Amino acid sequence: MGKRYYCEFCDKQFGDNPSSRKNHLTGVYHQRMRRLYYDSFKDPEVILADVEKGICRAFQNTGECNYGDRCHYTHMTNEHRAQLQQQIQKKREAENAKKKSKSELNPSLEAWLSKRVKKMKSEDPRHCSQSDGDDSPQYSLPPSLLGMTNIPPSLLPPPANTFSSLDIQEWG
Ligand SMILES: [Zn+2]
Ligand SMILES: [Zn+2]
Repeated sequence: MGKRYYCEFCDKQFGDNPSSRKNHLTGVYHQRMRRLYYDSFKDPEVILADVEKGICRAFQNTGECNYGDRCHYTHMTNEHRAQLQQQIQKKREAENAKKKSKSELNPSLEAWLSKRVKKMKSEDPRHCSQSDGDDSPQYSLPPSLLGMTNIPPSLLPPPANTFSSLDIQEWG
């Protein structure tokens, strides 16, 4: 018994010699099986675009084709195509969901600032009325320290007008 060649794409065995191998590997059936195998890793959108380009009219219209497996055009059933459509749909939805969660994880600086301004206005009306000539900064304790007693003085906000009474000197 000579060596056998097993083709995994076609699930077929045959005597292994250069000419039978070449025959098989260049055969339409093998090429089709090989393509189907790689198609399963391809983007469904790409497959569908391929299908629409090379659809077999005979198979499409009658469900039959005289060429059978040797036909050079696509014999994809409408069900299979509908499946691909669904896959594409799902993929797009997944991508959109991913994009959404990404933007939630990486909020923009503008979004953060506008949120902060709103929060400050709703919590402390004084921030809204800063235009009455007093442009000294307002200090407040961070929320994490509000409940603490015995806060070291260095962490406490400075008394009002501490800085406005200082003699400001130019550097250099
Ligand atoms: Zn093969
Ligand atoms: Zn056909």
